Amino acid sequence: MYRKRNEDVVNELGSNVQSGLSSQEVEIRREKYGKNALEEHKKETLLVKFLKSFADVLIIILLVAAVISLIVDPHEWVDSLVIFIVVMLNAILGVVQESKAEKSLEALKKMSSPECKVIRNGVTDKIPSEDLVVGDIILIEAGDFIPADARLIDAVNLQVDESALTGESVPVTKMTDVIDGDAAALGDRKNMVFSSTFVTNGRGKAVVTDTGMKTEIGKIAGMLGAQKAEPTPLQNKLDQVGKVIGIISIFICVVVFALDYFALGAELIESFKLAVSLAVAAIPEGLATVVTIVLAIGVRKMVAENAIVKKLPAVETLGCTSIVCSDKTGTLTQNKMTVLEIYDNGKLKLLSDITEENHQLINYFSICCDAKIEMVDGVEKRIGDPTETALVELNNKYGSDVSWAERVGEIPFDSDRKLMTVVIKKDGKFISITKGAPDVLLKRLSKSSKVEGVNEAIENMSSRALRVLALGIKVFDKMPEVTLDLEQDVEFLGLVGMIDPPRPEVLEAIKVAKHAGVRTIMITGDNIITATAIANELGIMGEGQRAVSSDELDSMSDEELRNRIEEFSVYARVAPKDKVRIVEAWQSKGKVVAMTGDGVNDSPALKKADIGCAMGITGTDVSKEAADMILTDDNFTTIIKAVKQGRGIYANIRKCVKYLLSSNIGEVLVILLAELIAALNILPLHVPLAGIHLLWINLVTDSLPAFGLGMEKPEDSVMFEKPRPKDENFFAQKLGLHIGLEGVVVGALTLTSYIVGFQLYGHAVASTMAFVTLAFTQLFHSYNVKSEKSVFTKQAFNNRFLNLAFIVGAIMQLAVVYIPGLNTIFQSVMLSLPQIAIAIGSAFAIVIVMEIYKLIVRLIYKNK
Ligand code: ATP
Repeated sequence: MYRKRNEDVVNELGSNVQSGLSSQEVEIRREKYGKNALEEHKKETLLVKFLKSFADVLIIILLVAAVISLIVDPHEWVDSLVIFIVVMLNAILGVVQESKAEKSLEALKKMSSPECKVIRNGVTDKIPSEDLVVGDIILIEAGDFIPADARLIDAVNLQVDESALTGESVPVTKMTDVIDGDAAALGDRKNMVFSSTFVTNGRGKAVVTDTGMKTEIGKIAGMLGAQKAEPTPLQNKLDQVGKVIGIISIFICVVVFALDYFALGAELIESFKLAVSLAVAAIPEGLATVVTIVLAIGVRKMVAENAIVKKLPAVETLGCTSIVCSDKTGTLTQNKMTVLEIYDNGKLKLLSDITEENHQLINYFSICCDAKIEMVDGVEKRIGDPTETALVELNNKYGSDVSWAERVGEIPFDSDRKLMTVVIKKDGKFISITKGAPDVLLKRLSKSSKVEGVNEAIENMSSRALRVLALGIKVFDKMPEVTLDLEQDVEFLGLVGMIDPPRPEVLEAIKVAKHAGVRTIMITGDNIITATAIANELGIMGEGQRAVSSDELDSMSDEELRNRIEEFSVYARVAPKDKVRIVEAWQSKGKVVAMTGDGVNDSPALKKADIGCAMGITGTDVSKEAADMILTDDNFTTIIKAVKQGRGIYANIRKCVKYLLSSNIGEVLVILLAELIAALNILPLHVPLAGIHLLWINLVTDSLPAFGLGMEKPEDSVMFEKPRPKDENFFAQKLGLHIGLEGVVVGALTLTSYIVGFQLYGHAVASTMAFVTLAFTQLFHSYNVKSEKSVFTKQAFNNRFLNLAFIVGAIMQLAVVYIPGLNTIFQSVMLSLPQIAIAIGSAFAIVIVMEIYKLIVRLIYKNK
């Protein structure tokens, strides 16, 4: 295709440059060519996933224990069988949950998958890139991913980063001319653009030549290796915890077995059963699954709050965020620009005072725009940058027709230059019109420009939070060369001042953030006076803090910036490269930084930041790719909500872990203490809990409330605390101590129930009582863990899932005791009313103990 003229390519593909394909044609082609998507790699089959879930130290220990007990005592096969069944069930549950989590992550990926601009039926539209067909006419601009392979029809300063395809990281400048020669290398086919590369500069129009697997990237099959989902740091940490527990439990088992068999002279089978019970007791079988699911649920909840988290670890990092650097326009403000004033012929004017003599200025402002306001089916549709739609609207309402202006050259806007230029033909002459940031333009004026009073006008408008744009022109007799020289020596014409009101909800969000120890920093391309005015309105500027401009920033060394970083709350006239410096300076202070961005040039800063936030609506594909999180509503408030969710999810996981591990410790203690009491000849106790009891509790009655705890809404109080340090130990803030202490209580209550039962009714009944007590202790305990507040408050029961988990858990527990058949499998006996009353009563004691504890903590806290 690169050897043919672009007109010929368009004809050959049966398309039309102006109107594109028709809907019918698209349908026919979709049938023929299929989706414009790369074939996905084969996913792991369910069976592979299922088998993989056995590659877990803890599960292996369990299985080995089951096999050995079958060998040692084949008569007691039910025990081993139950262990097998429970482990299987656990594996199945894990696989089901994991694929659910995977599906929701996939759905997330879809939500963030690129769209592209296409001309069909004569209208420009945005469609999912997947729906492109060969022959479609696409429009591309800086920041877009190229959606398919295509031959260029039009290219204006078009540069494309093709490193994904060629490995060459320097952007390639594209053109439309025919390329001679037979086998130009990919990198030399400069009149083509290729799928999966992205536009770094300029814009263009092209006709799609290949889609899906037929594209160059599709041909490189090896590059499409399925991305592996890396475990998050937290999952890693918990894996470690699991392993350590595994090793400790093996150690305890061996020691206890040896003691029991050799020192106390017990029977081999009995000693062995004891050891197996201990292993089962100590291993938190449900832990890994619970954490994965809590993370996945959290991510889903965030979507509902407009934050798409692309990488699971980001959920954890979010909670540590201490600095949020936010773009102003569109994120803190509404990005609904409206021109309020103009400055023309030395006079500042309100719109109502505009006269015909001002038409030239506002004509030129609107000519120097790519934005459009169209009526589609009677509805006004604004396409393009709001700064520009405001200018077009200004001219539509107060100016005159500009359809005569034929554009013959242009230099697109970019946030580094902060200028945009177009060249038009008028009355046989060529006029180059440049608009942009006034401070930039004023530095480039011709000597003859009249600028008296201009600075005052700029300052006047800026101090009232208006965004000011300046305009200048240059007139030529013949078509000038379109280079950056057009933006030198321009003749000043005038200014406009436009307002972009803050989003109403942002003020509150910034306050909440402040309480939560999260500082908001405003980053803007606007000038320092406008920026300061808005920052003051939003309460961003704290005492002793100030705004700094890019120029001043440039004059500072990295070290100086690092030392003074706390001083600056507002960065004005920022270029994207400054963002990286700001992130680095804060990070050097040990802060966890969230940074927003939308343009191509923002990618390095988004990648550098701990949480890169891309804009869902206005963001470029490239920025979305680089980000950790996408704000689907472009709203600052969403970041703060996400921080709250992040903290809540982390807190929930801690609650789950505390809950599950304290149960394991309790179980181990019951068995060890009973053994000790027997060994010391105080009472002839047996092993209070059978392996099957422990498995049932760990995998069923414990897991249910643990999921419930994972579903907890973040407590408001999470936003009254300082951000957690990033490297904080998971067991920090005495979590370890709490797990230990609460474990002791669980163990003590269960053992009490067993001893009382043992004395009154003998081992069989006592064992069932201990079984019931342990299960109910945990069910009750879930409400203690739920919140640091008392359980005797209304909020205690506001978690439907937890309530349901409690009820289902309780019913299932009673079922395995009272349903004949089940109770044989579960080695339990039907308890009489007094027996069950003692068992459940002992369990309830954990609520009382914890309430007293919470009361004491509150009193100490108050006194402090
Ligand atoms: P923020 O950085 O606050 O989110 P922004 O993204 O709009 O704002 P830039 O797009 O970098 O900031 O714009 C910086 C400056 O460039 C603006 O203050 C304005 O003076 C000028 N400018 C913005 N858009 C255009 C445009 N389309 N044409 C010419 N100049 C523009």
